[in-house]
Amino acid sequence: MSKKYITSAIPYVNAKPHIGHAMDYLLADIWARYQAGQGNEVRYSAGTDEHGTKVEQKAREADAEPQAYVDELHKSFTSMVGHLNVSVTDFVRTTDTNHQRRVQEIWRKLDKAGLIYKDTYEGWYCVGCEGFVTETEAKNMNYTCTSHQKPLERLSEENYYLRVSKFTDEIRRFNETAIVPAFRGREILDLIKDGAQDVSISRPKEKLSWGIAVPDDDSQVMYVWVDALSNYITALGYPDKDWAADFWPADVEVIGKDILRFHSIIWPAILLGLGLKLPKKLLVHGFVNADGVKMSKSIGNVIDPMEIIDQYGAEAFRYFFARHIPTFDDGDFTWQKFLAAYNGELANDLGNLVSRTANMLKRFVGGSTRVSEHFSWDSSSFNQFMADFRFDMALGEVWNLAQHLNQYIDEQKPWEVAKSTVKQSSDITQVMSYLVSGLLEFSKLLTPFLPDTAAKIDQIFGGDSVGEAPILFPKAEK
Ligand SMILES: [Zn+2]
Repeated sequence: MSKKYITSAIPYVNAKPHIGHAMDYLLADIWARYQAGQGNEVRYSAGTDEHGTKVEQKAREADAEPQAYVDELHKSFTSMVGHLNVSVTDFVRTTDTNHQRRVQEIWRKLDKAGLIYKDTYEGWYCVGCEGFVTETEAKNMNYTCTSHQKPLERLSEENYYLRVSKFTDEIRRFNETAIVPAFRGREILDLIKDGAQDVSISRPKEKLSWGIAVPDDDSQVMYVWVDALSNYITALGYPDKDWAADFWPADVEVIGKDILRFHSIIWPAILLGLGLKLPKKLLVHGFVNADGVKMSKSIGNVIDPMEIIDQYGAEAFRYFFARHIPTFDDGDFTWQKFLAAYNGELANDLGNLVSRTANMLKRFVGGSTRVSEHFSWDSSSFNQFMADFRFDMALGEVWNLAQHLNQYIDEQKPWEVAKSTVKQSSDITQVMSYLVSGLLEFSKLLTPFLPDTAAKIDQIFGGDSVGEAPILFPKAEK
């Protein structure tokens, strides 16, 4: 048994959770549950990023104090974690007093190591993005932010900078080896081919007041990088003396592709500056489109994850997004695809297999759940897919087992075998025990993906005699 640590990105709480957040939670949870099933001690940390000008503005618009505002929004994220049945062990809010205190200590350590310096920056700035763009970028956008449709402002300000450039070699190596899938690491390598750039890590207080104060400088407040990225270690109590150092480095950090560059350039620089090891893997998922089109409020095609969960349950949600959204790439959601998977794969392939096997056990062998020595299933490709983070393919392997068992029933025709003579009565026992063993193996492999369904299958077939078999996935109307 070893200690394993996984994290999912901490969403910015200026809006309600969307499908991308649900993907973060789901992928991390599949891995966490798989590792726990292998007998490992697993910590899984999630959280919410609660500082910044946008949050402050939204709070003011809602006539609320920023803290009261984030207290409300943060609940929608913990609620989603609960509804999705995600096995989070640690949850960091960046407004937690412990987090803030630890982040200030982290800042001091980076400063002491000579990695922070003050400089004046002048450039084109978008208030909506809370960020500067380069001269070339500004020119290409015709000096108007494309996402906010607002003219860029010429701005000069004094900021603290982190010496990211000092770690260019290590950052390159990290992107060559740790990014899953590898092609995303190559995109970052291209981005830093002339070296990694130092990054501004504070803002003057007049521009950003809702944030963690820079130690020993009242005029500056920390920008998102050190504040938010550090959550992955403050969750373990870093840098307190008794922090859970035996869980670091993280085995996997799960993020969406839109925040890769912060996690593969700035985050490694912070960790190297602190003398800490880098995460072993960054698992980067793509976007989920709706009907082939990017979800956006202006198009009005945003799918609310809670709508799917409320109607069809967390297990159906987990199934569709784990299996039918490619783990490594962009995927597509349509209600039609979702319902086809729900009815065809969950209600039919799985639901029928479970209910007809339970019925046949009662009718043909008096409910006996004897297991078979003749059943064996090669799960090596399943385990390889799990090791490679191809969760979609791994779940496909689990379904191959369901198909195999359905086919076994069709070929063996237990109802014919059961027509009794003495010889055949031993045959029907063999056929039925093969199915019991198959379903117990199926339940074991299914656990990381559909933990509740797996537990139900276990309850039905894992006792001395067959249990009540409820309809697992009632057919849905098209
Ligand atoms: Zn903008």
